[in-house]
Amino acid sequence: MKNCQIYYGQKLLYFIEKLWTTDEFKKAHRDIHPELWDILDKATQYPICFYEPNDPLERSHFSTFYRYIPLRHYDNPAVNDLYYLHELAHLAGMHHLADSRQCETPEDYKRWASAMEQNEIQASLISEVFVYLWFPTLRQKTFTFEIWVDRFLAQGAEWTPEWVFVLNGERMRAMERPNNDQIEQYIHKYFLQNKIWADIWSQSFYKVNKNINLFESIYDMSSMIFDFSKANIFKDNACRMWTNFVEENTKYGIPFRKEASQFSEYLGTDVKTMFKV
Ligand SMILES: [Zn+2]
Repeated sequence: MKNCQIYYGQKLLYFIEKLWTTDEFKKAHRDIHPELWDILDKATQYPICFYEPNDPLERSHFSTFYRYIPLRHYDNPAVNDLYYLHELAHLAGMHHLADSRQCETPEDYKRWASAMEQNEIQASLISEVFVYLWFPTLRQKTFTFEIWVDRFLAQGAEWTPEWVFVLNGERMRAMERPNNDQIEQYIHKYFLQNKIWADIWSQSFYKVNKNINLFESIYDMSSMIFDFSKANIFKDNACRMWTNFVEENTKYGIPFRKEASQFSEYLGTDVKTMFKV
């Protein structure tokens, strides 16, 4: 992890606007597209740290969990935008405030793990399915191979409550009871990976929840201060608490290194089993 940059408020929205590379996303950002802005409003309620990953371990490390988004480069501009949409959708749906207690009991873990599972489902639905209904011209710019949403686009899927209901239900089914086709098998595989990810964090998730919750509460207090510069001092102090917490848990440049290496190790063995290498 290097070159960490923290943004909040208007500067954060401006930074995100510069991340978009396709006309669809640039226009949607500019024109206050309601669905995109619903995500942006929620995701940018608190500061975000963007950083450049510089270790292979960081490839599968879900640092968005503690509001650190890795800057990535994809050759395909549309894939670039889908990536940032996915991470921002994660942040938009994460509710650390719901877990403000020092939750360490098995019940608290189950509640958290299922909330995170739900969070991944929503982020995936947004960046792999709904986005194509919002921006119909985007599909031709993304992948040349068949993706899950294609079968619904072929049936005339549109951004309507009826279709959202159908797609939600179909996605849940595909995750738990996939058909015998490669696309649904992959969806199922990622669903199982989420469970392993949560299991790896079972001893440390509460630390993140507790500290992010504290940071968000202090950051919120700045809205009660009318003096602009004093409010900014409050925000800066809150940010310092949050980044100090992440730094305290950083080893050799990677926050929560143990969790990162365990998950990366699991994915390594999983890939080996899949392709028999
Ligand atoms: Zn995700």
